[in-house]
Amino acid sequence: MTRAINFGAGPSALPLSVLEEAAQGLLNFKGTGIGIAEISHRSAEFGDFLTNLENLIRTQLNVPPTHSILFTQGGGCGQFSATVLNLLARHRLLHPELADEERTLDYVITGSWSKKAAEEARRLGGAKVNVAVDARPYSKDAKSFDNIPPHNAYTFSPDPALIYYCENETVDGVQFSNEDGAPTSFPFELLPPNTLQPIVADYSSSFMSRPIPRLADHAVIYAGAQKNIGPAGLTILIVRQDCIVDVDAAAKLGAVPVPLTMSYKTLADAKSLYNTPSVFSIYIAGLVLQRMKDQGGMPHYEEVNKRKAEKLYAVIKEGEEKGVFQAKVKEGAGRSWMNVVFDVLGEGALSKFISGAEAKGLKALKGHRSVGGVRASLYNAISEDQADQLIAYMKEYLAASTV
Ligand code: PLP
Repeated sequence: MTRAINFGAGPSALPLSVLEEAAQGLLNFKGTGIGIAEISHRSAEFGDFLTNLENLIRTQLNVPPTHSILFTQGGGCGQFSATVLNLLARHRLLHPELADEERTLDYVITGSWSKKAAEEARRLGGAKVNVAVDARPYSKDAKSFDNIPPHNAYTFSPDPALIYYCENETVDGVQFSNEDGAPTSFPFELLPPNTLQPIVADYSSSFMSRPIPRLADHAVIYAGAQKNIGPAGLTILIVRQDCIVDVDAAAKLGAVPVPLTMSYKTLADAKSLYNTPSVFSIYIAGLVLQRMKDQGGMPHYEEVNKRKAEKLYAVIKEGEEKGVFQAKVKEGAGRSWMNVVFDVLGEGALSKFISGAEAKGLKALKGHRSVGGVRASLYNAISEDQADQLIAYMKEYLAASTV
C-alpha cells in the first residue's frame, strides 16, 4: 500500500506503526476480545489506559502536581467558550462585588484563531474584552497576521479574569518562540509577579511538539488531539487547580452559568469520565504518546521539529532570493515550526507547484482559504525524511523556475 505524505493542517498525519497497531486494537483491545470502539469506558482496561495516557503527558511535559490533566471533547472551539466561563466563575468567587463591566478578559491576538477566541468571549458577555495587543498593525502591510508583536506593544489589564494567547496560529503560521527566542516569546515578565495569573494558552497545533516554556505559570493549556497526537474528538486540558472552581456557587453570585460538560470541576471530579469520552481518539493518542516516549520524548521531538522547520525556511529563503517563493511570516518574528506558510510567485505558479507536489505524493499543501499560498504542516508524524522530500521537490521546482 502506498501512503501519501500528508502535510495537512489537521486532521493530519499519524504514524503508520500506530495505525497498524490500532487496527488490531479495533478488533481486540488489550486481550479483552472486545474492540476499542466497542469497550466500556468504565472497564478496568480502559481506565488503566487513560491513567497511563495522563502519565505519558505529565512525565514528558513535566506537568507539576499543581496542575490537573483533564480529557474532554468539543475541540479548541469548545475551549474558546469553556475557558471564559470557568475563569469568569473563578473571578466571580474571588471578587463577588464587581459588576460585569468591571471585569476584563485580556486577549493577545496574533492570528485567526485568537481572533475567533476573542469574538466568542465578546459573544458570551459577563465581562469586557480587552485586546492586549493586535499583531496586525505590526505587519508588513498593516493588516496581516505575520508577526509576534514587540513586548512594548502589550497593554494588560490590572486584574483580568483571563489572559489569552494562542501559542501557534495554525492558519497564519505564527508561533511564540521558546525561551531562547526571547524577543518574541510570550511576555510573562510584563505581568505582575503573581504566581496565580489566569494565563490561558491555546496549544492546539503545537502540543507535544516541544517543551512548553513556563508551563507552571499557566492557568489553562489546552489542545485538540488532531494535529500532533491523534484523531479529532479528544481535547486535552492542563488546568491549574485554583482554576477548578465550583461554577454553581459562582452562578449563585451572578456569574454566567456553566454547562456541566464544560465545567473543569465536573471533569476533575469525575476523572474525565463524567460522560462518555472519545475512546478511540484517546486510544490512538495513548499509542502515539508511548511511541514518542520510546523515541526520546520532548528533547527528541524538539530537535527534529526545529531542524525540519529550519531546512524548510532555508529553501524558501533561497526561493525568495530568486523571486520564486515568498514566506508569509516575517523573519525572526515568530515563524512557526509547525505550519510553514509561503507564496509561490508568478501567474498560475501556485497550482503548478501544488499539482507537481501531488504527483510526487506530497499532499494537502494548499494554504488556508483565508490566506492562500502554500501551507506545509510539519507535525510530529512528518518524519525528517518526509520533510526532506518536500524540500527536494522545492529545490527541483526552484531550479526549473530559474533556468
Ligand atoms: N485553535 C487552533 C490553534 C486551531 O488550529 C484550531 C483548529 O484547527 C482550533 C483552535 C479549533 O479547534 P477545533 O476545530 O478542534 O475546535
